[in-house]
Amino acid sequence: MKIKFLGAAGTVTGSCHLLTTDTRQQILLDCGLFQGQGPATVNLNEKIGVDPKSVVAVVLSHGHIDHSGRLPLLYKQGFRGKIYCTEATAEVIKVLLTDSAHIQEGDVRYINRQREKKGLPLLQPLYTIADAEGCLQQLAIVPFHQSVSILKGVELTLVPNGHLIGSATVFLKVDSDVGPVHLAYTGDVGRYSDPLLQAPENFPQADVLLCESTYGNREHETEENTSARLFEIIQTTCIEQKGRVIIPAFSLGRTQDILFILNNLRNKGHFKHLKVFVDSPLSSKATAVVKKYARFMRQEVLDVLTSDPDPFDFPELTFITEAEDSKMLNDLHEPCIIISASGMADAGRVKHHLMRGLPDARNTVVVSGYCAPETLGAKLSAGQKAVRIFGEEVHVAARVETLHSLSAHADYHELLTYIKCQAADLLKKIFLVHGDDDAREALRDKLIDAGYSGIEIPLVGETYTLQQGLSE
Ligand SMILES: [Zn+2]
Repeated sequence: MKIKFLGAAGTVTGSCHLLTTDTRQQILLDCGLFQGQGPATVNLNEKIGVDPKSVVAVVLSHGHIDHSGRLPLLYKQGFRGKIYCTEATAEVIKVLLTDSAHIQEGDVRYINRQREKKGLPLLQPLYTIADAEGCLQQLAIVPFHQSVSILKGVELTLVPNGHLIGSATVFLKVDSDVGPVHLAYTGDVGRYSDPLLQAPENFPQADVLLCESTYGNREHETEENTSARLFEIIQTTCIEQKGRVIIPAFSLGRTQDILFILNNLRNKGHFKHLKVFVDSPLSSKATAVVKKYARFMRQEVLDVLTSDPDPFDFPELTFITEAEDSKMLNDLHEPCIIISASGMADAGRVKHHLMRGLPDARNTVVVSGYCAPETLGAKLSAGQKAVRIFGEEVHVAARVETLHSLSAHADYHELLTYIKCQAADLLKKIFLVHGDDDAREALRDKLIDAGYSGIEIPLVGETYTLQQGLSE
């Protein structure tokens, strides 16, 4: 039995790991899009690293595009097996993959108009809406906690891990020449104090663990501090300086976290007349998916629901889907909060809001989660005083605040707490994925201190034979 790392090994996007059983069945764990890797991104995305026709199944940990975003490409290139995931993840990717295909088609249309003028050959989109619709036909729902036989000698269990609606740690029992191998793959691990979702649940004892390490070297603030810091930012920016707060945020997950915090502040009587806009074509669909699965939320959310039937909505909140309405925000001359995708600020409408908002010292930009190094979000977070947006240099006069505590990823304390459900003497191999090298090395050292061994920091393209690893 072998594992090959096809993405998110040294980066945090492009999650895709290939498991080959001793009976030569090829299974992909996630099939995500690379994002924010600069000019290399296009090439990284085009080559999956395995013949899609030979892949018999995909197991999807959760719906985020960096874990699911190349499923339509896999389908386009001939994959016709099943994609196993939870019901909520299926709902999430119906929204996200269709949107991703729209973006791919739209981007190429725009580029091709320029290329046509210059007489250059036209490009093809990475995939189309038809490809996204095709792969969505391959979905197979697996309920949480149920062991399901997905292939000969392969049993799958999905355990909730609190990162996103529907997200799971993947637990596989795979027959091999040396007996059954238990492999766990965390996908992305959530927080023990997420504003909305229940804490990650312990998973069964594994022999081999693939663990994310996004924040393997970072400690988050507490959730109470997040609400207090947002309060201070809004009070200073909107009430005292009459400016606007611009929050780049993923349409699904982060946006609802922020809306829940803002709704709670309003329920306490704060900022009653301040306009809030969620500007993303996906936003209302994504919020509808989150509301549909309110049963996965933590008790605090269920408590709010008893007195407030919609904890993600309030009178001054407007969801903007049409581009024309988005442009009208430019002419609004009153303080407001704009929450807009993408979260790393490297794409989407938030770039337009930043282009106009950054030169104004009354405004504040709140970077609310992990940003890949080359992205606009990362440059702002690093304190750059000038950035390039749409080819133009933009002066940064606005205040920039980074709220890592809004991240949907566990910090290193939480990752260690999570891994501690595994007995160190039984867990033979730990592969640290989905993290920059600094984060992976820091987490490796902490795991060694905690008594774990057999820790690997794999590179993209590397293959490990698991039986050898297990018998070491
Ligand atoms: Zn994720």
